[in-house]
Amino acid sequence: EVGEEEGSSPWRYTRRGLGFKKHEDFGQWYADVVAKGELIDYYQVSGCYILRPWSYAIWETIKSFLDTEIKAMGVDNAYFPLFVPEKSLSKEKEHVAGFAPEVAWVTKAGSSDLEVPVAIRPTSETVMYPSFAKWIRGHRDLPLKLNQWCNVVRWEFKDPTPFIRSREFLWQEGHTAFATKEEADAEVQEVLELYRKVYEELLAVPVIKGVKSEREKFAGAVSTTTLEAFVVQGSGRGIQAATVHSLGQKFSEIFKIVFEDENGVSKRVWQNSWGLSTRAIGAMVMVHGDDKGLLLPPRVAPIQVIIIPIPITSARTAAAATSSRSSEAPAAAAAAASSTSSRTTAASAAVADPLQECKAVARLLQEGGIRSATDLRENYTPGWKYAHWEMKGVPLRIEIGLHDIEKMQVTVARRDLEIGAEGHKSVVPKHQLLESIRELLNVVQRSMLEKARQQRDAAIAVALNWQDFETAVQSKKMVLAPWCDEVAAEKEVQKKLKGCKTLCMPFELQNSLHSSLASLVLTSLASDTKCFVTGKPAKSWGLWGRSF
Ligand code: AMP
Repeated sequence: EVGEEEGSSPWRYTRRGLGFKKHEDFGQWYADVVAKGELIDYYQVSGCYILRPWSYAIWETIKSFLDTEIKAMGVDNAYFPLFVPEKSLSKEKEHVAGFAPEVAWVTKAGSSDLEVPVAIRPTSETVMYPSFAKWIRGHRDLPLKLNQWCNVVRWEFKDPTPFIRSREFLWQEGHTAFATKEEADAEVQEVLELYRKVYEELLAVPVIKGVKSEREKFAGAVSTTTLEAFVVQGSGRGIQAATVHSLGQKFSEIFKIVFEDENGVSKRVWQNSWGLSTRAIGAMVMVHGDDKGLLLPPRVAPIQVIIIPIPITSARTAAAATSSRSSEAPAAAAAAASSTSSRTTAASAAVADPLQECKAVARLLQEGGIRSATDLRENYTPGWKYAHWEMKGVPLRIEIGLHDIEKMQVTVARRDLEIGAEGHKSVVPKHQLLESIRELLNVVQRSMLEKARQQRDAAIAVALNWQDFETAVQSKKMVLAPWCDEVAAEKEVQKKLKGCKTLCMPFELQNSLHSSLASLVLTSLASDTKCFVTGKPAKSWGLWGRSF
């Protein structure tokens, strides 16, 4: 089924191309791209997915970055058990009510029923906090800051979607306890900023920081702060990218996590919990992927540069396959194919072998710290390989033919630009290879974030009344609208426009949004501004939309 040549476009070299277009059928496109890009494989248990090496490597990069930063915040890693006793899980009433429908239970061991069934952690507040109560005695035990890398299980009934909403997922969960509210609040901002870095600086996915509405906050939290990402193309929806919960003293009251302060007064601790999951990979795919497949930002791409030889026999095919290869390439291909020059070409091939040259270039890049690999498989044409690595989202491709060797250069193609677009292909002299590739990877990383930011900003509308709001939502926009911040108002919107809800009440609009939109929003919430739903005085701007 693979490797068949069907036409002149590299895309036609394979039937493994995507069967759906991102704009036309987003859901099918996504399901197809995560499988054909070899990020996941589907599994017999619905809502559970196999993370293949290509996605696990991305997760490892995220993990290693986050882990270093988390430790730098003075947080220690620990590991708590997978199972939760029923009596711990149900201690905090709001928490258990929120999670109960999604909790998976172990009720049997072999063929015998367990006397006391145990739950599988959907999150670990109730697993960890009995220990917090034991370990914290005096003010010198504070702050207690722990993190664990683990899996959790939530038996979600909403459409499962790889990475975005799975029944088992990987994440880190931070759990911290402080003597004062001020310290706990400061940490909320610190973690949000760290998560922003993961999304914007690693995954090139722009996010907006904000606070969740009462209706959307974490079960058991005093308030939930969030990062919201946006998938504009094809879907027009928000994604809750990562969350930081201010638990206040709710859990410390119930789990009796108390300490004696300097004056010997017994006080309850202030707590936060915070998590970032493998959902981040899904958000990145949704934001950057296109009709050719995945597009991975260089900082997380397991392979940043794929190096492909143009052997003499396929030089002609490859030259035809890519309309924008440098103009000399077809000439080299033609020369290779021409019977009169075949002897000379064969002779020079013996001296200058594209395969050996590819290996040498890969070594050079690897020694310079660039994640690069060669694809020297002989049973596939260069065009097939182009399509394959484009599907996998490798940001840069180096092509090496005889002509390149003669000229002591390589040809570089950017995955993030269309064929024929300015800068899609360039020729790099070998003596500048390392610096040029490093710079190009930085350029790609920056330009992916910038492009996503522009698309996101263009998809946000401002509405001051219901009619404008409805029109904007129906045209797949996210909407900034002033509102009264009451649960009933949000319910009303959800009833009228199915699936539409607050994504967050943004703070930091100036930094998150482009300036004209931000200044409009900042200036127009005057004291007499009315809620677009109820007409009551508006309390804040809400960012509304549909969400995954
Ligand atoms: P929560 O503890 O519910 O705030 O979850 C923390 C983060 O994990 C959320 O902000 C989501 O980004 C992510 N998350 C929640 N549910 C899922 C799920 N079913 N699959 C993958 N990621 C999830």
